[in-house]
Amino acid sequence: MSGFDDIAAELAAFKARDLYRQRRRLEAPQGRELVVDGRRLLNFCSNDYLGLAADPRVAEAFRAGIQRWGTGAGASHLVCGHTAAHAELEEALADFTGRPRALLFSSGYAANVGTINALLSRGDAVFQDRLNHASLLDGGWVSRADFHWYRHRDTAQLEQKLAATAGGRRQLVVSDGTFSMDGDLAPLDSLVPISRAADAWLMIDDAHGIGVLGEQGRGLVDPARWTVADVPVLVGTLGKALGCYGAFVAGSETLIDYLIQRARNYIYTTALPPAVACATLQALAIARREGWRRERLAALIRRFRSGAAELGLEPAPSATPIQPLIVGESGAAMAFSRALQEQGLLVGAIRPPTVPKGTARLRITLTAAHDEADVDRLLTALDAAARRIRAA
Ligand SMILES: *Cc1c(COP(=O)(O)O)cnc(C)c1O
Repeated sequence: MSGFDDIAAELAAFKARDLYRQRRRLEAPQGRELVVDGRRLLNFCSNDYLGLAADPRVAEAFRAGIQRWGTGAGASHLVCGHTAAHAELEEALADFTGRPRALLFSSGYAANVGTINALLSRGDAVFQDRLNHASLLDGGWVSRADFHWYRHRDTAQLEQKLAATAGGRRQLVVSDGTFSMDGDLAPLDSLVPISRAADAWLMIDDAHGIGVLGEQGRGLVDPARWTVADVPVLVGTLGKALGCYGAFVAGSETLIDYLIQRARNYIYTTALPPAVACATLQALAIARREGWRRERLAALIRRFRSGAAELGLEPAPSATPIQPLIVGESGAAMAFSRALQEQGLLVGAIRPPTVPKGTARLRITLTAAHDEADVDRLLTALDAAARRIRAA
């Protein structure tokens, strides 16, 4: 008899409650269409918002990077894994975000846990939006700081909670920039002054905004508007709109210097392959230069939203490529997703615990690789699936 005897029963319970997760095995690269089980499916579930994950120019930069640097970094950044390619990418990311410095991490998950855990410890306080990404929540737990929630985008409640815990210790307010499962935005107009008035630092995780929002794709935190004092900690990822892998934190010289000394997820892990940095530099240059990708995305989002409204589908209020249709129960979201797949479309069903109970949803994502006919096909298929499910 061991404490683990019940894990098979737990798995069976996940299945019974429509919470069992399964991976799909892709047989072709990321793109407008995916190939799954030999079948082509129109892809509405990736975070490759600019369509760069399979861009030949980025792939070529990756190949050239391997020619120059080989495959592995060989060690952590602080031992002997930090190359000129990493340094060059950090400088480009600092310039892009309008921050004095940037620091590469091996993933967004690592950046978030590593940064919060480096900045806070027992006796400090972290304030998080209810719908923040799991990696931000985990960073808060790991740090052992006092954990405070505020209702989604409810900055009045945040203000009350900050006032109730005022003290000389460190206070960190943490929010997704674009909420990953909802597509709506952090209310910087009130988050910034409220945090500053409380002498708290604000940390924005712009995983879904980098490359997508703002001038040249600089993200939600427009450096022309928000200074380092306004948003001292900015996180971005390289695996979404930039189509590569990894993440970064951008901020002051002091912040970055401190993270190099203190962030365990930075110190005790192997540096990204340098060739990934080479590929990302190319992707970043393309993302900045090719504004047509963002314009196309914006046009597709408008087309989707007006078409969905005409059909009486009610996508959540979102102006970003993340367009959720809240369905409610997990089983219903799964049935919806299956019905779409039968029509040749891949749309992810997102269930608890990724989203709150009773808010299972289709998470539709649009990318610059789509065209108008793709959006129309999506709308027709959603309409057919909705009718079928209502009739069942
Ligand atoms: C995807 C995501 C992350 C994690 O980034 P990875 O590089 O995939 O580990 C962090 N925060 C948010 C909001 C995300 O959506």
